[in-house]
Amino acid sequence: MTRHSQEKIQEPASPITVPFNRPFIAGKELFYIARAVTQGNIAGDGEFTRLCARWMEERFEIPNVLLTPSCTAALEMAAMLCDLGPGDEVIMPSFTFVSTANAVARLGARPVFVDVREDTLNLDETLIEEAVTERTRAIFPVHYAGVACDMDAVMEIARRRGLRVVEDAAQGVDASYKGRALGSIGDLGAYSFHETKNFICGEGGALCVNDPELLMRAEILRDKGTNRRQFFRGQVDKYTWVDVGSSYVPSEICSAFLYAQLEMASDIGASRREKYEEYVARLEPLEREGRLRLPRTLESCRSNHHLFYILLPDEATRDALAAHLRSHGVLAVFHYVPLHTSPMGRSFGGRDGDLPVTEDVARRLLRLPLFHEMTSDEQNYVVEQIEGYFLRCKRRPAA
Ligand SMILES: *Cc1c(COP(=O)(O)O)cnc(C)c1O
Repeated sequence: MTRHSQEKIQEPASPITVPFNRPFIAGKELFYIARAVTQGNIAGDGEFTRLCARWMEERFEIPNVLLTPSCTAALEMAAMLCDLGPGDEVIMPSFTFVSTANAVARLGARPVFVDVREDTLNLDETLIEEAVTERTRAIFPVHYAGVACDMDAVMEIARRRGLRVVEDAAQGVDASYKGRALGSIGDLGAYSFHETKNFICGEGGALCVNDPELLMRAEILRDKGTNRRQFFRGQVDKYTWVDVGSSYVPSEICSAFLYAQLEMASDIGASRREKYEEYVARLEPLEREGRLRLPRTLESCRSNHHLFYILLPDEATRDALAAHLRSHGVLAVFHYVPLHTSPMGRSFGGRDGDLPVTEDVARRLLRLPLFHEMTSDEQNYVVEQIEGYFLRCKRRPAA
């Protein structure tokens, strides 16, 4: 035995352990990967990349979907397609993953962070207008938890002020706003198929190109700045370097895995909804007692039940509940450190207290395990541990 393993901390054994997430096989993933390999094409833009793109174009009514190696890559492409550069500003929430802001900052543009709504935790549309300056070029709304932003309001402001809209729909694949798929509403949308999302392929993403005028340049940026796609379509007689691009085409291995997941999208969606609704039903009594708050969606939206979070009354309760769950084998996790208070955000002028709702919810939010193959025993165990925690609190005499 090595010294290292002897020094390992012994955690108390719990009867069940429930991870936060568990990647899964939904159907024919391994079969399709074998097919891609035996067909002799595992580079990009082969059969499976096309099948995935067409599937999303049809199901989500998107004119053109371009698969990418990640949502981060799709957001980078989107920022380039908005022609962002030094001096430009982009309005976005601070309560988001770093990729939303990175896409903008890496071009020398400035993310301008706006607070979120208390109900959906999405960009507060009533605060957008006052953040617009003559340097504002775009709005990047983020559909947190697969719950739609108020896109009518966002689009109205953008159209009136001449701004581009890029939806960060990383978490919003197969969710909708007033009957329209998230990712299909702005000029551009970005999807993620990272292993923590609803439909997965390890690392993967897609750029939804809703403004047809952006398509040709999008294809060029994606393929190392060349017009190779036009060449393959016979539109030019040789392909060459025409723009500053990068390598944003995913491997067929990833696309083959993803296609099998998309084929099972309805099953995956139904299983997530069932678990989400079970959490709501079981935790509603605690919400009525004022112990926690459950997630909210806008009236006219369909969530994809990407994640289930609860808001605790304060940070101390959130941390104590998380520790209680962890000691009982359940991994429940926080979410974003607000970007405006991160070291990079501060370098853009962000300060504590700038965005009160964002800062408040970031301290009180806890995400519970929710994944396709979570069993009812596992979910029941998670709920029982939460109930147990609050029961213990009740018994403790008031200080
Ligand atoms: C997951 C996520 C991303 C990044 O997706 P990748 O595919 O991992 O690059 C970006 N934005 C949000 C809101 C996300 O949740």
